[in-house]
Formats: sequence, C-alpha cells, structure tokens
Amino acid sequence: MEPTAKTCLECSKPLKGRVDKKFCDDFCRNVFNNKLNSDTNTYVRNVTNILRRNRRLLEEALQVTTEGMTKITRTKLLEKGFQFKYMTHTYTNKKGNVYYFCFEFGYLQLDGDWLLVVKRNEEV
Ligand SMILES: [Zn+2]
Repeated sequence: MEPTAKTCLECSKPLKGRVDKKFCDDFCRNVFNNKLNSDTNTYVRNVTNILRRNRRLLEEALQVTTEGMTKITRTKLLEKGFQFKYMTHTYTNKKGNVYYFCFEFGYLQLDGDWLLVVKRNEEV
C-alpha cells in the first residue's frame, strides 16, 4: 500500500484503483450522498419552520386591526418565539426606511422597542 493511500469517504476502507476515487463502490457513494442530502433537508426544514412561525406571528399581530398595519413591541414578538435573524427579504421605501419581511408580512423598526407591522402583496 502506498503511504498516500486514500480511504472511502463512507466506510473508511482503503481505496484501490484510480487516484481520484472517493468511494469503494456505488453503494458507499449512495449511502454517503443520502446522508448529506438528509442533513441539508433537515436544515432547510428547520429554517422554513422558523420563517413560517415568524410569518404567522406577524399575521396574528395584524389580525387585531383592520387598518392593514399595527404596532407591536419587539419584546412581545420575542416572547412569542419570533426569531429576528430569519427573514425572506427586505424592502426599502423612498424615504430609505428598511422593512424586514417574512413572506408577505413585514415590520419596520420604530423608536425604542416598537415595530410597525405591515402586509404587502407583491409580485415576486
Ligand atoms: Zn466504502
């Protein structure tokens, strides 16, 4: 065996044959790739759930009014489980105010702890 012999990324057995081989065979390749995909899917699912919850909390805040916008404190949203680092996009209006959105619901930071919650129907 050469000192630089590589091992299979899945089962760690020494590899024989081509230098650029990464797996013993198709079985090891498939097992490895499936694990990788399932990790990615778990991550995507977790982030999607956080965004959905954020969206629902903004939607709930808006349900107390018929005016299409309302105020809520950052503290209140945090208590309900809102995660501020997750959002889908931002919108900057002509005044330069930046709205942070989770899908069609968003908020603008006001003075102190207050946020203005809005709904925006936009074409993607
Ligand atoms: Zn293997």
